[in-house]
Amino acid sequence: MKLFSVARRLLPEFGLLLCGIGMGVGLTYMIAHAIRLQEGRAELKTYAQRLVEAGDELGVENNQAIDAVTHDNLPFCSEPEIAFMRDYVFHSPHIRDIGRTKGGMLYCSAGVGKLAQPEATSAPDIATGGLKLNLRAKSLISANTMGFVVEKYGVMLILNPEAIQNFEDPPKYFSGFLFDRLSQSLKQTFGPAIPLSVDEVAEGEPVERNGILYQPLCSQTSMVCQVAAESREDVLAGGGYLFTGFPIGGALLGIALAWIAILYYHRQRSMERQLRRAIRKGALTIAYQPVVNLDTGIIVGAEALVRWEDRSGKAVKPDIFVSIAEEGGYVSDITRLVLRKAINEMADLLAAGNFKITLNITAEDLRDRRTFDLLEQCIRSAGLSPACIGLELTERSTSDQAVAIRAISDLRLAGHRVYIDDFGTGYSSLSYLHRLAVDAIKIDQSFTQTVGTGAVTATVVPLILKMAYELGLMVVVEGIETNEQAEYFRKAGAGLLAQGYLYGKPVSAAQMKWLVLDRDRFK
Ligand code: C2E
Ligand code: MG
Ligand code: MG
Repeated sequence: MKLFSVARRLLPEFGLLLCGIGMGVGLTYMIAHAIRLQEGRAELKTYAQRLVEAGDELGVENNQAIDAVTHDNLPFCSEPEIAFMRDYVFHSPHIRDIGRTKGGMLYCSAGVGKLAQPEATSAPDIATGGLKLNLRAKSLISANTMGFVVEKYGVMLILNPEAIQNFEDPPKYFSGFLFDRLSQSLKQTFGPAIPLSVDEVAEGEPVERNGILYQPLCSQTSMVCQVAAESREDVLAGGGYLFTGFPIGGALLGIALAWIAILYYHRQRSMERQLRRAIRKGALTIAYQPVVNLDTGIIVGAEALVRWEDRSGKAVKPDIFVSIAEEGGYVSDITRLVLRKAINEMADLLAAGNFKITLNITAEDLRDRRTFDLLEQCIRSAGLSPACIGLELTERSTSDQAVAIRAISDLRLAGHRVYIDDFGTGYSSLSYLHRLAVDAIKIDQSFTQTVGTGAVTATVVPLILKMAYELGLMVVVEGIETNEQAEYFRKAGAGLLAQGYLYGKPVSAAQMKWLVLDRDRFK
């Protein structure tokens, strides 16, 4: 039973560990896969390159042979010329035979000597620039063998068709072509047929079709084009070392990541537990940041900002713990604590008049009647007017329009002012703002800080001010830190309110009261 409860408690950790290992292995498997394919493509390219180079070398050898025979200064098909051709064939690595032709007739060859009767040569498969090519013509040496025949200037060469095919580690498939750029025609010289278009071969880019990777490559100097090909399956099968090494590394990486995630999860859980306890004990405190009239500099109110120190006495940012409470679904507990404390701490100042406070509320508060009921109850028992408590909600928290519109309307009917906080950071359009029917907007500090910097967002500020003016909305400018920023907004419109470090950082209730007593100091 105990074992079962321990296992249940460790379920999230176990889940994180499995997720981490799964993700690590999956990720590295994908990386190994990509690396192997890249390697496979590079190998195909190298092979195609070697084939092309061999084809080019063969072309050079052909030209030299044709050149040698046409300049042998020996009578056509004479015994000395036949002897010269025999000697050439004997020393050539790839030429099997050399013959001499005239007017489409073959007269003699190194292999058979002078023909008793001249023989007609076969029609070429490719004829370009005086060069004729026969991919499979009858050999001169023996009538039964076929060869690759090149003919130019009355010299006919029979080539060894394997001349460019015998390399080490060949890919599964490779095919040779001759590409006539003038007529854009492609003739296959050897190898299996490939499903690539003429353009695809000429472009020389890798192509994958039906699970086979093709690497075409054409020579820059000759008609030679080669295509090396291998199935994706065979390429991946060649990467065994990657597929064992990488996932092991990936699993270790996954364990490390899961460990970090588990630590983070524990920290969050511990933070959440501490936060819940602090809320239960009412251990959160409130800081108040002055809001001033920009024209006169007089403090007209303050924003109540919640503060919390964790067990170690470290202040946790409200953005962080408020989101934790939002995710946990108990942020309204914070709101209720803040409103109770703030009204309690500020009741005397608020009752004296000319001073208002605003409280931050969230989407959850808009749906939770208990928060507003408590607000009215606290206001009544402190003998205050609802007008001295304003409520700030961000654009994000108004995403459920119907709920937001009803709650805002209820709050305003009850006599509160409603503000849209951090205005400009959301996506609310003018008509949306109109429909929400709020009293004021608080221009987000990110806009304030761009004033005078030439940033694009700075150009939005006059538009926001104009829009607010047209909708009859009060404006609070947040985050004023410099005199230049204050000056800019002072010139931009009368009656704006401001909040920021220039006028005061958030302070305790006691300090806030002291500041209000001294409120004329910004005059
Ligand atoms: P907010 O409502 O927009 O509050 C203004 C924030 O800007 C405050 O940060 C304030 O200290 C800071 N600030 C004011 N003037 C300046 C300035 O001149 N320069 C700069 N750089 N910052 C300035 P804080 O107190 O850290 O609060 C952060 C956010 O946490 C608040 O943004 C609000 O969204 C949330 N928050 C704070 N208190 C509560 C609360 O009681 N309830 C809820 N739901 N959210 C709260
Ligand atoms: Mg606020
Ligand atoms: Mg704000």
